[in-house]
Amino acid sequence: MLSKNWLLSISLATLAMGFQMQMPFDTSRFQDWLPSNGNSYRHYSTVPLDQLPIDVHQYKNDMVIRINYAENKELKKLLFSSQPENKPEDSNNHKDTKIHYSRWAHNNVKSTVDLQIDEDNLVGLIGRFPSLDYTVIIQDLAQKVYETYPQDFERPGKSKIYAQKDDYVYKSTAEVLDSMKVDVMSELFFREYRPLETIDAWLDIIQQTYPDIITLEEIGHSFENRAYKVVHFSVPDGNVDHSQKKTIVVNGGVHSREWISVSSVLYTVYQLIQLYNENPTSKIFSHLDFLFIPISNPDGYEYTWRSDRLWRKNRQSTLYPGCFGIDIDHSYDYHWIKSSDWACGEEYSGEQPFEAYESQIWEDYLNATNNDHKIWGYIDLHSYAQEILYPYAYSCSEQPRDEENLIELAYGISKAIRVQSGKTYDVLPACIDKDADLLPDLGSGSALDFMYHNRAYWAYQLKLRDSGSHGFLLPSKYIEPVGEEIFAGIKYFCLFILSDDR
Ligand SMILES: [Zn+2]
Repeated sequence: MLSKNWLLSISLATLAMGFQMQMPFDTSRFQDWLPSNGNSYRHYSTVPLDQLPIDVHQYKNDMVIRINYAENKELKKLLFSSQPENKPEDSNNHKDTKIHYSRWAHNNVKSTVDLQIDEDNLVGLIGRFPSLDYTVIIQDLAQKVYETYPQDFERPGKSKIYAQKDDYVYKSTAEVLDSMKVDVMSELFFREYRPLETIDAWLDIIQQTYPDIITLEEIGHSFENRAYKVVHFSVPDGNVDHSQKKTIVVNGGVHSREWISVSSVLYTVYQLIQLYNENPTSKIFSHLDFLFIPISNPDGYEYTWRSDRLWRKNRQSTLYPGCFGIDIDHSYDYHWIKSSDWACGEEYSGEQPFEAYESQIWEDYLNATNNDHKIWGYIDLHSYAQEILYPYAYSCSEQPRDEENLIELAYGISKAIRVQSGKTYDVLPACIDKDADLLPDLGSGSALDFMYHNRAYWAYQLKLRDSGSHGFLLPSKYIEPVGEEIFAGIKYFCLFILSDDR
């Protein structure tokens, strides 16, 4: 039990330093990462490096903790200070007390922040705030990361399946599907998270199988030249002109580590096809048109499968050598203000709106197809929190139009989810979630605000499961249940828009 030794050593170290550290030693907390019901992963430390999906040793001293900052203003200021202490140029000012961490999430209503932090920095944080109120959410982060990859996933370039070609992984659609031994409409596809090329192959097959209703559109290319793909789901109807249909947009994967958002978009496409097979003349198909973007950040997603599972931004170069990536969800031109985070930080906005390739691609596409698509609904899938956020994100002082109905619809989606799975998704304004009135830069330039203000009458950001036990590392056994509940929510959204006769 590596982690027990680890805990013991940190506890002893802390005691030795004279801090009153809250003991995180509680065996029930280990159950989360212990292999269950035969689905056993070896401990990563016993697996040869070249058989690991990525080098998970990079997280080996890290854990994830939830801090309750309550009324502690000084602590809150530190936790939300866009981590200036991670900047190298600040290191002289904080030589003794510099604390490194990565902020995963925060809950403004409950006054909690989830941090990825290593033991030394936790000790440092406790040194600065001796009465720090925290619990350990993920003890052995490296193992948890390891277990999110399919067990048979082999490192690109190392296996028979993944043959190297000019530094790019090349394999044909048929090879992928052969290797998965599934047919295209099999639920087996959703038993695991899938890498980019497997998802691409699945989408190709879906298009080939349903050419009358599904068109794959490549609407641009990322910084690393990967195709930005839109799945256009449109059932032709002799009585309703395409341009008269109401378009619903659902996207996922804006933040690349939020894998459950990618699988949930794919699952929605899959369920919609099932629905079509059962009832092709449903009003949902004759009067609605769908645009799905399963992977809104292809470079980032690929990076999470090859290098760093916890990467969030895209991968484009910035003004600062060695700093990569812009937060796509802080790149849209509606009340955009530059982030206080620096270029290496996870919330870096770039220097101007639409600097992120992906936000510009989407804006260009919307402009080019303005007459084809009357966008009525927009849903942007993220994780994690189990929340339905409605506009605006940038500020609580701008009132959304038709607010009462906007909120009612959000509660309707939440109820549809709860009826499906029993899970509770809280409804709140995005500005509250972002704490926008106190920290305006965190809520600005979002896709939600941009789409709501300029394009979609109804728009939400959904933060999927869970509420913290696994965070971004939701095990693959939840892909289907989350897919089911999100499809239930989206179906409710569709029916509402069908009946909305403004
Ligand atoms: Zn996100």
